[in-house]
Amino acid sequence: VCPTGALTEVDHVGKVWRELNNPKKTVIVQTAPAVRVALGELFGEEPGTVVTGKMVAALRRLGFDKVFDTDFAADLTIMEEASELAHRLKHEETLPILTSCCPGWVKFFEHQFPDLLDIPSSCKSPHEMFGVIAKTYLAGKMGIDPKDMVVVSVMPCVAKKYEAARPELAIKPEIPDVDIVITTRELGRMIHEAGIDFKSLKDEDFDRPLGESSGASVIFGTTGGVIEAALRTAYEWLTGSTLENVEFESLRGMEGVKSAKVTINGRTLKIGVAHGLGNARTILEGIRAGECQLDAIEIMACPGGCIGGGGQPYHHGNIEILKARAEGLYKEDRDKPIRKSHENKEILALYDEFLGKPYGEKAHELLHTSYTARKKL
Ligand code: SF4
Repeated sequence: VCPTGALTEVDHVGKVWRELNNPKKTVIVQTAPAVRVALGELFGEEPGTVVTGKMVAALRRLGFDKVFDTDFAADLTIMEEASELAHRLKHEETLPILTSCCPGWVKFFEHQFPDLLDIPSSCKSPHEMFGVIAKTYLAGKMGIDPKDMVVVSVMPCVAKKYEAARPELAIKPEIPDVDIVITTRELGRMIHEAGIDFKSLKDEDFDRPLGESSGASVIFGTTGGVIEAALRTAYEWLTGSTLENVEFESLRGMEGVKSAKVTINGRTLKIGVAHGLGNARTILEGIRAGECQLDAIEIMACPGGCIGGGGQPYHHGNIEILKARAEGLYKEDRDKPIRKSHENKEILALYDEFLGKPYGEKAHELLHTSYTARKKL
């Protein structure tokens, strides 16, 4: 928070209320993984309390026509990212591959490492993938003109507001993938403004389709989770055998840089994780100097990953709060009936009915993006 009040947060609550009150619009909402383990803190719950069901119930009471889960699109991201990794390995293309679902990190490398734009994955971030699928596949199923659909993302992140405005993340200039982004704190304020007694709400489930998700998608919200989710799928696809222990302990925890080795078909893949942009810079400078031996790297701008995002309830640097939120996500992962993205039946139906093959032509058109070299700040 700016101590002099010269800078204020961009607030989109009023914009969401206006769309909810517009009878011509179908307003749908999606919620990121990290929101569900922090939103409760705004209503007196302990950090890490999983409030997924109450959050869905509250969003329905606020007036959203459909309530969906960004976790569904996190599974979709893994289908594309694991395919991209398999493709790069098979064709001996550039490695390491870097995850690309954090817009703070994407903007950082566009400015600071414009000579390395060929290494990040070309996958859009999960909420952008969700937006484009909502305005094509779902709009078709619902018989709605995408111009009359408003996609609202509830994110732990202030950078996602900027990301949603990137011109390349749109079906057409007048139809962005995502229309409005609000943060966890803004959602909390809307619930307060509407006078909803959050703690007394009964749990409700997400709408379908686009509501089913695996445990792999839930852990996207914490540092190490994206690459762990990708490994669960890439391992099984590349080896053809079942991954019995899906928990990659060495990629978990709050250390700034983590690594693991995974042997796939006789080749040892070296995996890295960095959170916080100082750690990211160290890794990227190693890549630029030809000294980095890693094959796949997850980078998140915020310490702890999205659980510590700039749009979450303030944690004032208290690492115990971040650990509790991470544990909430790992618990939700353990409790899920499926824990691998490629076993999500709604994702498989989406490819069957609409997208075709993972990493195929239509998937490329809708789910992938490109980056821009920008001036060093
Ligand atoms: Fe946003 Fe931070 Fe998550 Fe990156 S790590 S997506 S900047 S909340």
